[in-house]
Amino acid sequence: MNKKPFPSPYRPDSQIASLGAQIGDPAQPANFPETILRFRNDRWAETIGLADYDDATWIRHFGRFEPLPGNMPVPLALRYHGHQFRVYNPDIGDGRGFLFAQMREGDDRLLDLGTKGSGTTPYSRRGDGRLTLKGGVREILATEMLEALGVNTSKTFSIIETGEALMRGDEPSPTRSAVMVRLSHSHIRIGSFQRVAAEGDAEFMQQLITYCLTQLYNVALSENPAAQLLALAVERVADLAASYMTAGFVHGVLNTDNINITGESFDYGPWRFTEYWDPQFTAAYFDESGLYAFGRQAEALHWNLGQLAVALRLVSEAPPLISALERFPELYQRAIIRRFLWRLGVESIGEAEDRQLVEAAERAMSRERIPIDRFFHYYRFGSQGAFATPGEYQIAFTELLQKHTSVDAHRDAYWTNGRICSMLINEVEDIWQAIAEKDDWQPLNDKVSAIRAMGRALNACS
Ligand code: AMP
Ligand code: MG
Repeated sequence: MNKKPFPSPYRPDSQIASLGAQIGDPAQPANFPETILRFRNDRWAETIGLADYDDATWIRHFGRFEPLPGNMPVPLALRYHGHQFRVYNPDIGDGRGFLFAQMREGDDRLLDLGTKGSGTTPYSRRGDGRLTLKGGVREILATEMLEALGVNTSKTFSIIETGEALMRGDEPSPTRSAVMVRLSHSHIRIGSFQRVAAEGDAEFMQQLITYCLTQLYNVALSENPAAQLLALAVERVADLAASYMTAGFVHGVLNTDNINITGESFDYGPWRFTEYWDPQFTAAYFDESGLYAFGRQAEALHWNLGQLAVALRLVSEAPPLISALERFPELYQRAIIRRFLWRLGVESIGEAEDRQLVEAAERAMSRERIPIDRFFHYYRFGSQGAFATPGEYQIAFTELLQKHTSVDAHRDAYWTNGRICSMLINEVEDIWQAIAEKDDWQPLNDKVSAIRAMGRALNACS
């Protein structure tokens, strides 16, 4: 499951320096005409000891990018390649972001502050290095919702409006600009390994693997560190794939450069939540073949891990890598069951029975077209009472559900009194329209509060 905030004093630890000049290139932030603070994530600022910054200090660091005390003196645009829609592209890398700072949180995890929209870098090519304000607002909504639904996700740490007019093909233009700071458990991607493999640099590959194992996974090296890292990544990514399903989430762009080696979900562009359990549902308008459709996300992530294995062949024989990869389907199945039970709020009663319950839930949702969030909201307290005329699949599901014990000793009033909290595209657009037309941020703030209330009821957030 995702981690909850773990308060800590500020403990800078810029470990990235140990990887030398090979990992990235010095980058300069853009000098923005304005810096208007729109969102600060104080829940998560507490985990890295920065919640007591006043707004002016916050803006100096996260809008002007004055280095944090004792942290990276110069930001780094990280190098990477990647498969985009299965086509290898060596011409990518941090083109509108950089790694800005690193620190330890309360339980010692090494966290990164990285940016999106902070200006051009050596990897911008024809891009402007910028992020639209709408893109920033969408990042807030995606990360808050996913966190509440138990998904291991990056956090939107800060959004500052920057006063530029941007031209974009997928938004009415000119459109407003912003710079985002993301808090995440590393910015090393599968594509980071692909770049090192493409350059044939075995020595740096070993260094990168060592960094990931010792700094990110906090483990000692085994005799085959490459296979060890792949095995750990397979575990995390299989769980991530399952978590997208139980959240009803479609990431939209599951390219290898968007897959973090820690298995933490990040980089939210054209994402959508699907209303129904519809495997064909796609998020990105440009995903014409449905490669990253709702029901194909596990396959896409498994394929990406295969590309990580290909890259790791530079320093490892194939058999141990293949063994690690082959565990994916089983790990995914187990994670699906665990996460379904979690969202339904019931305990396991054995593998076969649990599996039947999950299959019955999927059948009920898809054949009787019950919105996913409605289904989970009402069945959280084990009742079909909310459904006027339950169909045969729902009845079959309810019979199986009744065999399971609820985990809520005192059913949280949220499930009887709270409103169903969804994140469907119309609501996302309405929240943005209020900002675009009236500069009204209330609907966004209200939504974040509602999402966090759901997270607390699910015991995903504190
Ligand atoms: P994404 O689709 O956000 O994962 O980005 C894929 C690649 O395009 C990355 O190398 C980004 O840095 C780059 N990129 C996306 N948008 C821009 C932009 N506005 N300016 C420069 N580079 C960009
Ligand atoms: Mg990306």
